[in-house]
Amino acid sequence: MIDVIIVGGGPAGMSAALNLLRAGRSVLILEKENFGGQIAHSPRVENVPGIKEISGLEFSGNIFEQILFLGARFELEEVTRILKVNDVFEVTTNYRSYNAKAVILANGVKHRKMNLPNEDEFIGKGISFCAVCDGAFYKGEDVYLIGDANTALQYALMLANTSANVHLFTLFDRFFADKILIDRLKQKSNIHVTHNMNLIAYLGKNELAGLRFENTINRTIHEFPTNNVFIAIGQVSQNDLFKALVQTDESGFVITNEKMETSLSGLFAIGDTRKKDVRQVASAFGDASVASVFVDKYLQTL
Ligand SMILES: Cc1cc2nc3c(=O)[nH]c(=O)nc-3n(C[C@H](O)[C@H](O)[C@H](O)COP(=O)(O)OP(=O)(O)OC[C@H]3O[C@@H](n4cnc5c(N)ncnc54)[C@H](O)[C@@H]3O)c2cc1C
Repeated sequence: MIDVIIVGGGPAGMSAALNLLRAGRSVLILEKENFGGQIAHSPRVENVPGIKEISGLEFSGNIFEQILFLGARFELEEVTRILKVNDVFEVTTNYRSYNAKAVILANGVKHRKMNLPNEDEFIGKGISFCAVCDGAFYKGEDVYLIGDANTALQYALMLANTSANVHLFTLFDRFFADKILIDRLKQKSNIHVTHNMNLIAYLGKNELAGLRFENTINRTIHEFPTNNVFIAIGQVSQNDLFKALVQTDESGFVITNEKMETSLSGLFAIGDTRKKDVRQVASAFGDASVASVFVDKYLQTL
């Protein structure tokens, strides 16, 4: 039986694997999409001590290489159910089931959608949540971007390097981002910011053809023809599957104690998936190192 199954191969899951492998535990990481998690979408990571600047993709690739070197076992499978019978966890994926003595939830968060009509249909047909993945499709063109926090500003700065103009719309009259990003934004002449604009409709038939906004101050309506928009308005939890298993808060984030233990013994939660105030790589790493110690202690009690 596997000692520990880790659900999610983002920074939290991979660094927990690193610590547990070094402690001599057998580890299986299950990842539903791509190893790296959200940070792989970051054009530029600058807040990890010891690394001045690195692309998110290279950064997460380095961690992946490190855990492969240590002998991590991994599968590209989506966890669809977790059960605990006596002291054994049964983790079911879209392909098979595994048994483990302990489980770590490191399943992160997903993009918040605008929840407007046509949104799901137009994803990949003009609507994107990832500038790193899709920015190159609009090289030399004007691009549209919605959001007011760090991710939106990072996207704007990256897109400004390859696109003709970046049209950035925010809901309120200001940014909620790091000062360094706001300062950099101001230096870019091809980033055009419009505050107080609420996106109210995606235009188009089978693919995106334009955007309709309402000005939140004077209620005027504005339409812009475009074949693209990047949505960067935050993240939401993706714990519906686990709500019956563990205690979550009203937004679906898993509640843990300081040891990263959840309400179910042997089940731990780390990184963005848990209820916390700061969701960043460094705090994901911190959670992972704390959890690894207490997972190891838990395993010793079995
Ligand atoms: C564009 C962008 C830029 C960012 N830039 C920075 C930055 O510069 N510095 C910084 O500190 N932070 C940054 N962040 C935040 C940082 O990326 C996150 O805080 C961090 O990735 C959280 O790590 P995590 O492992 O907890 O979750 P995630 O990175 O969300 O990883 C979770 C993983 O779990 C997988 N998963 C989910 N459900 C399942 C399931 N049922 N079965 C199997 N796998 C599953 C997902 O596919 C994902 O790979 C950025 C975020 C974004 C979106």
